[in-house]
Amino acid sequence: MSDPKVFKNFINGQWVESKSGETYENRNPANKDEVVGVFQKSNADDVKDAIEAAKSAYEKWRLVPAPKRGEILYRIASRLTRQKEELSRDMTREMGKILDETRGDTQEAIDMTYYMAGEGRRLFGQTTPSELPNKFNMTVRQPLGVCSFITPWNFPMAIPSWKTMPALICGNTVVIKPATETPLSVVNLARVCEEEGLPPGVFNVVTGAGSALGDPMINNPAVRVVSFTGSTEIGRKISEACATDFKHCCLEMGGKNVQIVMDDARLDLAVDGALWGAFGTTGQRCTATSRIVCHKDVIKEFTERLVERAKSLKVGNGLDESVQMGPCINEGQLQTVLSYIEIGKKEGAKLMTGGERLTGGDYDKGYFVQPTIFGEVNQSMRIWREEIFGPVLGIAVCNSLDEAIEMANDTSYGLSASIYTQDINNAYRAMRDVYTGIFYVNAPTIGAETHLPFGGTKETGNGHREAAMAALDVFSEWKSVYVDFSGSLQRAQIDNA
Ligand code: NAD
Repeated sequence: MSDPKVFKNFINGQWVESKSGETYENRNPANKDEVVGVFQKSNADDVKDAIEAAKSAYEKWRLVPAPKRGEILYRIASRLTRQKEELSRDMTREMGKILDETRGDTQEAIDMTYYMAGEGRRLFGQTTPSELPNKFNMTVRQPLGVCSFITPWNFPMAIPSWKTMPALICGNTVVIKPATETPLSVVNLARVCEEEGLPPGVFNVVTGAGSALGDPMINNPAVRVVSFTGSTEIGRKISEACATDFKHCCLEMGGKNVQIVMDDARLDLAVDGALWGAFGTTGQRCTATSRIVCHKDVIKEFTERLVERAKSLKVGNGLDESVQMGPCINEGQLQTVLSYIEIGKKEGAKLMTGGERLTGGDYDKGYFVQPTIFGEVNQSMRIWREEIFGPVLGIAVCNSLDEAIEMANDTSYGLSASIYTQDINNAYRAMRDVYTGIFYVNAPTIGAETHLPFGGTKETGNGHREAAMAALDVFSEWKSVYVDFSGSLQRAQIDNA
């Protein structure tokens, strides 16, 4: 076997080794024998270099006309489109999710890049009348400077793009630390940016461990925006660190998403939705369906049908096109999933299917677990309350829509929810009363599109939204501009009173 490829950091337009002199191996979670690549185990000095490069590039980049910035983004999107298949295959090798899903992940990056390229000719502000004569009022968006991004492993290219593209179109520069488990997709994104003429220093990548790089990524005074997607635990620490010098801080964190199934639901659709929502990406989506609240009159039939379908899912290496569910990301995540399965059993939930690590043959090379469904789950159980981030679904019974809504809201998170019903009144009431950032009717809890705001309430986020025009509010600040052409001093609130 040939030696694995060594990937470097991307700082100031150069591919450079870490000053630590250390590297780490990244292996395929579906096949531990396969080394996907060797990556830089960076240290605080590397981060400092990257931030300095971004700081110095900012002075020119902020003055490039936004439509011209957009033209570079169009070229990046176009190359991502041409390279979609190879990028997606790399992503399946490093992250494990099936090819259909990594193609979707790359497509999200493409969609976001095109969307933000278009914003280069918009970035609209407002004009509004002045209360004084011969005076003109308007608002403009201004960039902030260097943005620091820390991203998770479950959407290796989509999430970095959600942050990077709106930041760049607004005129900011970027330093990103991808998840330790999935650096290759961000390295690939950097290569595309380089090849399509993004100026040196505008986009910088430093790979390595969050524990070592988190502080230097956040505490450097040149950093003005920190955007983080990951666990609530780390997000809280980042929020506290940013507060000291008032850095803008945008957090996208955990979820405990619910699908409501009413007695008038089309059960075929509800089963399709639950299967995809719970077991897509091996349940490792922040929007994954981890709770079902099902009406008592249909719970038996719904559960039987869903269990039947879950049993027949083909689990394996995502590079095999016939596989429907890939592995967990690593041994630690697999052990977390298995421990929650034990907790569910001890708490008295009824194991309907799954519950075991998959072993034997190729399964021994990866981190595979059966799609798992618990019935008779109740609101006091930990498997109801805590994010598992794996293919484990709990089903609880409800007697009415009011009760379903109360149960849906009984969580510290607030990312995504859905309802299956044929009654438009039920749909609208749930849409209004379930307190989440994302809501679906007759569709699963997963499936966000890039031109709608993405994010959640309560412990899922801190009030910001990614994607869509909402992302521009994270990466720009409003400046209100007053132009007085009266030729005299006019005092607001005084001379016109
Ligand atoms: P994580 O919080 O462990 O890691 C996320 C990132 O933070 C990684 O890059 C990691 O290296 C880095 N990190 C780790 N320790 C750090 C520290 N002390 N300081 C700074 N950075 C540090 O999360 P994960 O395991 O990669 O991802 C799973 C979590 O992410 C789940 O809770 C999931 O719900 C959440 N998530 C949320 C969304 C969303 O948009 N809401 C999307 C995807 C994932």
